[in-house]
Amino acid sequence: MDYIEVRLTVPPEALEAVANLLNEQGSGGVAIDDEREATLRAYFPDDERLEERLKTLRGALSDLVAFFPGMAEWREERRRVHEEDWANAWRQFYHATHVGRRLVVVPTWESYQPGIEDVVIRMDPGMAFGTGTHPSTALAMRWIETVLDEGSSLRPPRGEVLDVGTGSGILAIAVALLDPGRSVRALDIDPVAVRVARHNVEENRVGDRVRVALGEVGAEPAGVYALVLANLTADLLAENAAHFARVLAPGGLLIASGIVDVYAEEVRRHLTGEGLLWQGARSESGWVAPLLEKPRPGQAPSGSQG
Ligand code: SAH
Repeated sequence: MDYIEVRLTVPPEALEAVANLLNEQGSGGVAIDDEREATLRAYFPDDERLEERLKTLRGALSDLVAFFPGMAEWREERRRVHEEDWANAWRQFYHATHVGRRLVVVPTWESYQPGIEDVVIRMDPGMAFGTGTHPSTALAMRWIETVLDEGSSLRPPRGEVLDVGTGSGILAIAVALLDPGRSVRALDIDPVAVRVARHNVEENRVGDRVRVALGEVGAEPAGVYALVLANLTADLLAENAAHFARVLAPGGLLIASGIVDVYAEEVRRHLTGEGLLWQGARSESGWVAPLLEKPRPGQAPSGSQG
């Protein structure tokens, strides 16, 4: 299959937001050519969804003008690339990356000598989102490390984990590798992501505990999940706030990510409005990832002020 390379030149302050939009439209990898000039290259498969993706992308880019006035200047160029070139174009930017204290993401085609404390995730993200290098993924992975740590003051209760929008499967695999006692249900609405995630789950030998399925959070049963992971977008987090609150077990935790910082307050309103306690947020390069807790019966909502 051929790919269409889309080159965008945008104001530097809008770089992260635009990179996320490209990923949302199904670009497997976004290369940032030059941080100063802020040119991004993204690759989309030249299939029947291409025009729709580019149309959605243009709409979303126009919306960004409200937040980044310089965005009015964005330029778009298109070029056809053959599959082999595409693979190399983004692979050359993807190397072993230390994401948290212990988690290291290593492309499947690279060799890596792990350190004694390292927990290595092998990844071939293909056309799915989730290389580990995007700040929203990295923030979620760091929260996962924190809450699964024995010494953490906020640990999820016993029970299953739900990964909503699993993409490459990276967060689900991180949980399975960090905590051999956990099993994970990983969902995505994109069949390509489901295929890629299954492949990565096998690659990391956690197929006995990570089950990947096509689906979304709305169809999940109430009150069962000890930990919910959702690296989506501000809109989707707000839209699904009631579902997140519903599927969590009492004392269960929600790690949300994918929020461009200007929307963080709005997402907070929606999630705390469903009774979840805001236990803190971390941010990096304009991205915000909060941690929330579903109160146990009778628990005072002290955390909601944090
Ligand atoms: N979890 C990965 C990927 C996040 S990208 C990571 O942290 O890097 C978000 C993913 O959510 C995409 O794969 C997209 O297909 C999926 N998605 C979008 N809307 C969704 C929805 N309503 N329900 C489930 N998945 C959704």
